[in-house]
Amino acid sequence: MRTYLLILTILFCSCKQVDSDDWIDRTKHEGLNDIHYSESFETYCTEKNPDNIKNTVDNLEQAKEYFDKTFKEDLNFAVLFVDNANWNKYAFSPPPGMPQAHFQGNMVLGLGRSVIAMGAEQGLKQVPDSKLGILKQHFGEELNLDLFYRDALALHELGHLYQFYKTGKGTQRHWLNEVFGNLCQVAAAKNLSTQDVFNRMDVFQLFLINSNQWGELKFKSLNQFEEDYFEVLKQGRNYGWYQTKFYIQAKELYSKFGDEFLNEFRDFLIDINPDKVGIIEDKELKELMINTFGNEVVKILEWNHDS
Ligand SMILES: [Zn+2]
Repeated sequence: MRTYLLILTILFCSCKQVDSDDWIDRTKHEGLNDIHYSESFETYCTEKNPDNIKNTVDNLEQAKEYFDKTFKEDLNFAVLFVDNANWNKYAFSPPPGMPQAHFQGNMVLGLGRSVIAMGAEQGLKQVPDSKLGILKQHFGEELNLDLFYRDALALHELGHLYQFYKTGKGTQRHWLNEVFGNLCQVAAAKNLSTQDVFNRMDVFQLFLINSNQWGELKFKSLNQFEEDYFEVLKQGRNYGWYQTKFYIQAKELYSKFGDEFLNEFRDFLIDINPDKVGIIEDKELKELMINTFGNEVVKILEWNHDS
C-alpha cells in the first residue's frame, strides 16, 4: 500500500510539473517592486506606488476571467509595468512601451507616457485636425495613445501567455501566433464590461489603415514575416502594418465563429507545436488547417498583400 501511495504521489507530482502554476520566470522580477495591485495575478513595477494603471489592471482581471472560462484554465501570470528608462532591462525588444509576452509567464507593459505612444502621437501631428476628430473622441483631446499600446494590447499579450503556457517556445509560424494574439485581443475586449477598449483599438487600427501613412515598407509577405521576424519587429512601423492585417482577419474570425473558436485555435497551435511534430511545410499546413477549421476560415486567412 505504501509503495502504491508513493507511486501515486510521484505520478501526481510529475503531472503537476507539466501544468505547474509556477511556470513564471521570477528572475525577470529582479529589481522591481511587488506592488500587489491585483488578487487575480501578480503585479510588479519600476515604481513603488504607480498611478494610472488601475484601468489596465482592471481590464486584465476581466480578461483573465474570460480566458480562464474559454480555455478552461486558472492561469497565474505576472504583469511587469516598466518605465522607459528601465525598458531594455526587462523587455526583449525596444521601443519602450511596446507590450510583449515572455514565454514563461511574464508580460511587460509600459508605465506612464511611453516612448512608443509618444512617437505615434508625434506622427499624428502631421495629420490635419479635421481628420483627428474620431480619434480625439476616443483618446481625449491630447490623444493619449498609451490607452491603445498599454490597455488594449495588454489583452493581446495575455492571449499569448495562455498559448505559451501550453506550447512553451515552440512556434510553428509567427503569423499564426499573431493571428491568435489578435483574436484574443478582439474577443477579450468584446467581453469587457464596457466597449471603450474595443472601440479605441478599432478606431485606431482603422485610422492607420485608412490614412495609409506607412510609407515604403520593406517587408510585406508572410514568408518575410517568418524569416525576418525579429527584423520586422525592430522596424516598428512595418510590424504595425502586419498587425493591422492580422487584426482585420481576427475581427472577422471572431464575429463569425465566436468564443469557442479561440479554444479550437489554441488547440491547433498546441497540436502543431514543432517541438512535437517538427516543421510542417506550407502546403501540408494549409491542408491541416482546412481539415481542422474548414475552408471559410482558411479563406479569411489568405494573405493578399505579397506585392
Ligand atoms: Zn503578438
